[in-house]
Amino acid sequence: MTNWIDTHCHLDAPEFDADALEVATRARSADVTHCVLPAVSVGNFATVRLLAEQFGYSYALGLHPLWLREAQDSDLKALDEELTRHQSDPRLVAVGEIGLDYFVPELLVSPMRERQEHFYREQLKLARKHNFPVILHVRRSADRLLKHLRDIRPEGGWCGIAHAFNGSQQQAEEFIKLGFKLGFGGGVTYEAALQLRRLATSIPLSALVMETDSPDIPPHWLYTTAADRALGTPQGRNEPAELPRIAQVVAELRGIPLGELAAATTANALAALPKLRNLVQC
Ligand SMILES: [Zn+2]
Repeated sequence: MTNWIDTHCHLDAPEFDADALEVATRARSADVTHCVLPAVSVGNFATVRLLAEQFGYSYALGLHPLWLREAQDSDLKALDEELTRHQSDPRLVAVGEIGLDYFVPELLVSPMRERQEHFYREQLKLARKHNFPVILHVRRSADRLLKHLRDIRPEGGWCGIAHAFNGSQQQAEEFIKLGFKLGFGGGVTYEAALQLRRLATSIPLSALVMETDSPDIPPHWLYTTAADRALGTPQGRNEPAELPRIAQVVAELRGIPLGELAAATTANALAALPKLRNLVQC
């Protein structure tokens, strides 16, 4: 039997308010048996935990770089306390989603640039302190992320996922060397995404995990062009049930059977987030 793990899904996003149950049911029918739900701010810590419990999924706790405008230093203290309180919760599998975003212009310059860096470093320290893997947001920021990962390294090394990875081959190799798996999703379904497609075939199979980043990064068959949106067609909503079809593209690019990709990426997800071993049968 084929099983898929969606290693990155924002099921708590408002886009799913009306039908999260149907979304989870469709995922199961599509053999997506598990989803990892990363948090983005202190405000959604309780929600991702509740959703994980409700659907038998897992969650991560962290402060996302795109949600830092309102964040306070007291949020780091709150995260520290949550990680202490829920350390033995089998469903809490990582610190995330954390990282650096150098794509959004406002975040690239002072004071947000330093602010992002501060929160990222402090959260790496918390992950190290509480012995959790990390789920990383990497957008034009791979080298800087790597620098801090090397600075703040747990004794046994890092593990975790660089999600929606879209860096260079060399950066990919550096993340893998540090102990990370790389997350691939809807981006690879676009024929024009040449570099990303090349990466999805060139990295070792042992470093690859699948994700949707739902409701974001719709695969090409759900994508609505700017012209269509201007005419009132909404952007297609991505959801975990799309994962096998996205994975089919990766399997074809790599020239391997879909079942082999499912088995490998499931095993890789369990290696990246070891607490999943108690939640996922494979
Ligand atoms: Zn995300």
